[in-house]
Amino acid sequence: MVPLQLTLAILKPHVLKNPVATEKIKYVILQSEFKIVKLKTTTISLKKAQEFYGEHKGKFFYKRLLSFMTSGPSEVMIMAKRDAISHWRQLMGPTKVYKAQFEAPNSIRGMFGLSDTQNAAHGSDSPESAKREIGIFFPEFNYDKWFKEDEMHFRNNDVHFVPSLFIHQINNKTI
Ligand code: ADP
Ligand code: MG
Repeated sequence: MVPLQLTLAILKPHVLKNPVATEKIKYVILQSEFKIVKLKTTTISLKKAQEFYGEHKGKFFYKRLLSFMTSGPSEVMIMAKRDAISHWRQLMGPTKVYKAQFEAPNSIRGMFGLSDTQNAAHGSDSPESAKREIGIFFPEFNYDKWFKEDEMHFRNNDVHFVPSLFIHQINNKTI
């Protein structure tokens, strides 16, 4: 039995300004059989952006990254799948947009990236990052409890999709 992994995905502000891009990316997510555990639309505060991107502090692109990420609403999701972290990064494509366009033109960044900063989407890079990043955006989410109680339902596909919320819910569970 291989447990599912959780990853944190963000559709960045320039994507949300483009309903066609947003729809296409969500379609790709569902086609790729990710389960959406949580979704939140939020304009990221400067404080959260600084915490989230702390590892990049001091880099030449840090300031423009913060101003871009706080410039309008983003959609933030907790997604579950076997090997969710690498699958989502694979679907997103390379960080740098010119590279994405040449090497993975059908990837999310290849299709919808505008620049190295405005590269359409975020994905956690390890289970430790996923746990940390989920804690920043979903402080009410109990990560360990999810693996103890909910993971098996998602793994066994004992869930249904709620299109109006764009999330999967466990069958017969009232929340
Ligand atoms: P990833 O998002 O693929 O994990 P990084 O963690 O290295 O990539 O960078 C975080 C974010 O910072 C990127 O998604 C992108 O928005 C921005 N970024 C990274 N490198 C550059 C760069 N060279 N120029 C401008 N922005 C960058
Ligand atoms: Mg990263």
